[in-house]
Amino acid sequence: MINFPCPHCRAENEVEPDQAGQTVACYACDGEVIVPRLTARPKARPAAQPQEVIARPGFSLHFKGCATWLLIGGLGLMMYQCVDRIREEKQAQETRKGRERVKANQ
Ligand SMILES: [Zn+2]
Repeated sequence: MINFPCPHCRAENEVEPDQAGQTVACYACDGEVIVPRLTARPKARPAAQPQEVIARPGFSLHFKGCATWLLIGGLGLMMYQCVDRIREEKQAQETRKGRERVKANQ
């Protein structure tokens, strides 16, 4: 149920939630009243805030997880490039040695 005060006579009106956003007649003064989309009950608002607070650490944890994976991925790529360079250097040294050996044999 949605509780809201009438803008004309201040009487508390109570309507079904599916009437939110619709124009209804005030039960007290019969004036046209637009039903607010949010429940006017004061209990509903504090309930919405803790949810928001809970949602933030979840997001930051998710972000931290992403950052960790990015870091691991970056380190992996660096290691791979390092190993690849060492392998290339070894190959280059071996081909140089091979050429020198061929030269020495000639
Ligand atoms: Zn009224």
